[in-house]
Amino acid sequence: MSDLKVLVIGAGLGGLSLAQSLRGNGIDVAVFERDASPGERPQGYRLHLDADALNAAREVLPAGPYAVFDATAQYTEPFTTILATDLSVVKRLFTQDVHGDVWPRGEARHANVDRAVLRRILLAGLEKTVHYGRTLTHYESTAQGVTAFFADGSTARGDVLVGADGIRSAVRGQRAPQCETADAGVTAIYGRVPSSVAARFVPAETFTDIFTIASDERKVFLGLGSVRFPVAPAEAARRFAPGLSLPDQDDYVVCVVGGRHEHFAGVRDLSGHGLRTAAAEVLRDWPGRAAELLTRADPESFFVVEMRTSVPAELDPPVNVTLLGDAIHAMTPTLGRGANVAMRDAALLGRALKAVEKRRACLRDVLADYERDELTGYGFSVVREAARTGEQRMAQNPLPRG
Ligand SMILES: Cc1cc2nc3c(=O)[nH]c(=O)nc-3n(C[C@H](O)[C@H](O)[C@H](O)COP(=O)(O)OP(=O)(O)OC[C@H]3O[C@@H](n4cnc5c(N)ncnc54)[C@H](O)[C@@H]3O)c2cc1C
Repeated sequence: MSDLKVLVIGAGLGGLSLAQSLRGNGIDVAVFERDASPGERPQGYRLHLDADALNAAREVLPAGPYAVFDATAQYTEPFTTILATDLSVVKRLFTQDVHGDVWPRGEARHANVDRAVLRRILLAGLEKTVHYGRTLTHYESTAQGVTAFFADGSTARGDVLVGADGIRSAVRGQRAPQCETADAGVTAIYGRVPSSVAARFVPAETFTDIFTIASDERKVFLGLGSVRFPVAPAEAARRFAPGLSLPDQDDYVVCVVGGRHEHFAGVRDLSGHGLRTAAAEVLRDWPGRAAELLTRADPESFFVVEMRTSVPAELDPPVNVTLLGDAIHAMTPTLGRGANVAMRDAALLGRALKAVEKRRACLRDVLADYERDELTGYGFSVVREAARTGEQRMAQNPLPRG
């Protein structure tokens, strides 16, 4: 029987990773998620994972679901490839992994995975742990514990509350109201093309490398990222984790067209065909077939994102409420690292709470170390790096001075 009860707000990649870690360590955990079900909202397609997420997945997942993850991930070559606007290859940039110091036994690898498949894998075995349709409104914290209050009038009580509730975090609003987010000045339209169709337009490197990207003098860009399943998700689940149900999925290439808001006026109110046309229109003066590629994408696959970034700031000392992932260090996707840091936060916080459960450490001390080293140390350093890269590559607004 666990001494510690942990309440996690948000069943995104970070919240689910933490729940897996805690459950694996025999700690009592309950997750509360605003969405009515796991598939309620489309949440994007390809995710680039690096050593942070790959090692976190290996650490927190049980053997069967981890085998499914490993079998379905597309381990890429360690390059980001720069294209000309006619989609010919200019150069391949080696993308290093720099985390050997944090994960001594970790492997430095990169993978492209499908977000919905990853989320399903992270949910494995947590069916009774995750409570859908529960929107946190606020919490009350005393030295004796934390009570979470939900929009449906229900409450939950625990020893620790973790805000894993994403960029508009209600937990952050109360725990760290000084930590704000800012408009990055950039809009991006996302859609997906079946790989067999994309192969007629894009170079071979799109299918082997982490990401391929072309941009013009306006810093308008087209990014391409492939998701190729070495083993189909449904087949991998049958082989390695028979209780896990995954949908059949075909390989695809995600296409992202982005740049300063002014190049995308009015797109916020569009969907489907309208967004696809708007994305193709932005690239109409590019030579070759970039705009035509977009017209081959499934119109229903399109969505638009107005990018925001966290603004690094100090945190007050913790008592029994903390944060992880985008709830505290959301970043623009220029480095493809937000999910990686969220999953790494979860693995490290899970380890820290295990020490508290085993009475080897005091809760306030482990939360203070975690927040200093991981959230405001590592997390904010990646936010700053993403902002610097975003300024160079897509004219992102500089971070406001914190
Ligand atoms: C288009 C796009 C592409 C990206 N590509 C990459 C990539 O290639 N690699 C990478 O590492 N990162 C990428 N990112 C960033 C990555 O998606 C995020 O960093 C990551 O999802 C953060 O995980 P999280 O668990 O912190 O938050 P989320 O995944 O946002 O999860 C938060 C959860 O909390 C729930 N919630 C919110 N409010 C409440 C509430 N009040 N009560 C209860 N539940 C609540 C939400 O419904 C959601 O399920 C990308 C982001 C975008 C937008």
